[in-house]
Amino acid sequence: MRRRRKTKIVATLGPASSSPERMKALFEAGADVFRINMSHNTPESLKDVHGRVRALEGEVGRPIGILADLQGPKIRLGKLPGGSIDLKEGDRIRLLREDSSDDPHVLPIPHGEVFAALKQRHCLLIDDGKVRLRTWASKPDSAEAVVELGGTVKDRKGVNLPDTLLPLSAMTDKDRRDLHAALDLGVDWVALSFVQRPDDVAELRKLASGRAAILAKIEKPKALESLSEILDLADALMVARGDLGVELPLETVPGRQKEITRAARKLGKPVIVATQMLESMIESPSPTRAEVSDVASAVFDGADAVMLSAETATGKHPIEAVAMMDKIAAAAEGDPLYQSLIDATRPPPEQTTADAIMDAVHQVTHTVQARAIVTWTKSGSTGLRASRERPEAPIVALTPLIETARRLSVAWGLHCVLTQDAQDLDDVVERATEMAQREGFAKPGERIVITAGVPLGTSGSTNLLRVAFIGGR
Ligand code: PGA
Ligand code: MN
Repeated sequence: MRRRRKTKIVATLGPASSSPERMKALFEAGADVFRINMSHNTPESLKDVHGRVRALEGEVGRPIGILADLQGPKIRLGKLPGGSIDLKEGDRIRLLREDSSDDPHVLPIPHGEVFAALKQRHCLLIDDGKVRLRTWASKPDSAEAVVELGGTVKDRKGVNLPDTLLPLSAMTDKDRRDLHAALDLGVDWVALSFVQRPDDVAELRKLASGRAAILAKIEKPKALESLSEILDLADALMVARGDLGVELPLETVPGRQKEITRAARKLGKPVIVATQMLESMIESPSPTRAEVSDVASAVFDGADAVMLSAETATGKHPIEAVAMMDKIAAAAEGDPLYQSLIDATRPPPEQTTADAIMDAVHQVTHTVQARAIVTWTKSGSTGLRASRERPEAPIVALTPLIETARRLSVAWGLHCVLTQDAQDLDDVVERATEMAQREGFAKPGERIVITAGVPLGTSGSTNLLRVAFIGGR
């Protein structure tokens, strides 16, 4: 099984998609990585879903990445009467430090920090800013507010407080519990929400100690101020447009999306563009023109992956949403303008042997019109350097480590295959040609370009480039 595109798809699992049948259908439609949003999960439900993804992986015989997305110090509403309440402009509403409420005139907010820091005339934005409130009185455990922008608010929806300085640390007690559960299960990626400082990422990195790769979600203006330091400490970034678009003026988000994508591509670290990509498909079986254009733009920018949130977690058409994303990405990549757009934004190689080889691979692949690049990678770093080149041909990454194959599932252009380390140089070439053919990337008579490192089986030793014919050398 091979994908017809290089940009990857991250699909969030939820009630609309967590059954084994739905998950399989999502994978078949194009999901490469499954995201489990810990805002709506517990260590127990994480364990269940994780087990189902691993079972699916065994069934389909392809590595699948699992991303556990920690809630972070996000402020959320508690439970509402009947699951939701309607608020109209001008309504007065009381905010209480409670887990739940059975009064439709009371919004429960189970966070003491909010009431400690909330002042008069502060703004509260609920559910990505769909509903806006403004306080007119505040006390240690309650506040009074008026609705400025009305709408329906639902259980556990997020609350952003752009005017309020919240005394919060990067990881809550829940995050620490969820992190330990995720690490014990062996998830591939852990995402940190509401990163504000490089230290937030350093702290998670220390706790994870290599057991999972780390993704920093860029969703606060503060994080943008130290983007390069955060990127140095993280293994990947997410352009988390949901909260970013609430905390920053909306019209500035597209520019920041390009900035974050460019910064991550420069370092060869994966970048995921997230939130509202096909939002209307939560309800409708087809997306809007603007959404299609948005997904295509992220692809034209060379993002590693595009993500679906509520579309696949709770929407009415989760499988259609993935299938649509798959089609949009494949069409953008097949567009006559695609390669020139990607080439124009390709960062130059760094002064390392691996980058020199990858730069050469790129050129050789183009010159001999090779059908695939086959790269031997143990830790995954060579795979990522190959991906960073954004070459025309697909990249088959051969690795002896399932952890590497799963982590690389988020990276642009990489089709990972699990196989033992090569025995000698003949084996390097033989197995590469065999895998390229078996996985459907090349046919007899076609060329492939192979990279490997000598001594064999040592990470970070990539220093060899070889052109090979399928079916005879
Ligand atoms: P969330 O993160 O879905 O966990 O809020 C993504 C975003 O804010 O865009
Ligand atoms: Mn967010």
